[in-house]
Amino acid sequence: MSSNLIAGKDVQQWKDDYPLLEKISRLEEVFWRNIDYGTKKEMEYLSSKDITDALERLERFAPFIETMFPETLHTKGIIESPLKKINKMKNQLKHVYKIDISGELLLKCDSHLPISGSIKARGGIYEVLKHAEDLALENGLLTNTESYTIFSSARFKELFSKYKIAVGSTGNLGLSIGIMGASLGFQVTVHMSSDAMTWKKNLLRRKGVTVIEYQTDYSHAVEAGRRQAETDPTCYFIDDENSKDLFLGYATAASRLKEQFKKRNIIVDEDHPLFVYLPCGVGGGPGGITYGLKTEFGENVHCFFAEPTHSPCFLIGQMTGLHDRVSVFDFGLDNRTAADGLAVGRPSSFVGQAIGHLLSGCYTIDDQRLFSFLRKLVDTENLFLEPSALAGFYGPIQLFRTIEGKKYLDCHQLNDKVSNALHLVWATGGSMVPKEMVSEYYEEKIEE
Ligand SMILES: *Cc1c(COP(=O)(O)O)cnc(C)c1O
Repeated sequence: MSSNLIAGKDVQQWKDDYPLLEKISRLEEVFWRNIDYGTKKEMEYLSSKDITDALERLERFAPFIETMFPETLHTKGIIESPLKKINKMKNQLKHVYKIDISGELLLKCDSHLPISGSIKARGGIYEVLKHAEDLALENGLLTNTESYTIFSSARFKELFSKYKIAVGSTGNLGLSIGIMGASLGFQVTVHMSSDAMTWKKNLLRRKGVTVIEYQTDYSHAVEAGRRQAETDPTCYFIDDENSKDLFLGYATAASRLKEQFKKRNIIVDEDHPLFVYLPCGVGGGPGGITYGLKTEFGENVHCFFAEPTHSPCFLIGQMTGLHDRVSVFDFGLDNRTAADGLAVGRPSSFVGQAIGHLLSGCYTIDDQRLFSFLRKLVDTENLFLEPSALAGFYGPIQLFRTIEGKKYLDCHQLNDKVSNALHLVWATGGSMVPKEMVSEYYEEKIEE
């Protein structure tokens, strides 16, 4: 049998079955509508109770976080990000793309989450805290009454210093886990893929984190972390491809968002649909958030994932149903993109199977367009995001102008409701990028 077969079929057969793959392999920007969306399938392994449990755990840890990270004083140790109206950017998009984004446009600024400045401050930090709590309980250091400020005590640090945490990352997950892990006293090792930015590695080393660099991509870095933990019983591996705790940490975003909507009198219901555009790497961040949003808003929320044209792993895995049995390399792509947070060649099969029926669709975006959005957002709103975090902006544009996007609106009887819609672009990182890098990104040459 030829080694070029993917799950029993060759590339041409897959392209015949899914013609979109031809465009994808030519690096064209595509918009894919998920025909499995809404097919009712109960989630087997998670429930809304698990999200509540995660929210309560984060509340228990809030006094500790507030003590250790003064930037969370104003939220009393809750790690949350602002919602921002971006009307000037909306007008700019209307002008450039000659398209009216019907409804409101808001930015969810996870780029400005405290402690680690990216969406990973949700999942990554949550899983480190959960692990610390588990160890403290196992070692009889917690009754049920004390304040979790006790996690900053010498006794706890001394316990955690005997334990290791390992993770593979393209950068931001490593930052979140390294910063929180080190502050609790853990020995943290971050296995960094070739895409990881030097400043992220340096920052972690300054915090006492061991950073191991690889010349290969994300999947290999994760594999290296997994191997490190396998041979060492004191080492806990945070598995970006399979972790339910990471997923639940992300999912907590939704009930917080609902509170923010309430405060602003924003309504989401049958006549006021919510469209959310989430940059996607391996799928855990956008997948967890989608799971949370579907739990809160049901069929009134419509979630779309955004990937670089060079790394559309989640789209391919979902469309073909192959999940992690297929990679972007199988279709001739190179997984090279300036969107380092999204430089993932093979998706999480756990996430794909968990939220496949909740996802409205995926689209791809060219790196040049990411830089064009980056510059426009600085020029109009004086707001900087890292390249990965801009992928969401193309969502509302593609929804209204592609055939498949329009079909989506038709199929779900949304055309007469879109004027009441809220489009939420999820900005996933950027506030920790050093000044020199910001100018470099801003100056990036783009052909327009
Ligand atoms: C990690 C990351 C994402 C995507 O999250 P996944 O869990 O990998 O899908 C998006 N944007 C940024 C900036 C990230 O760091």
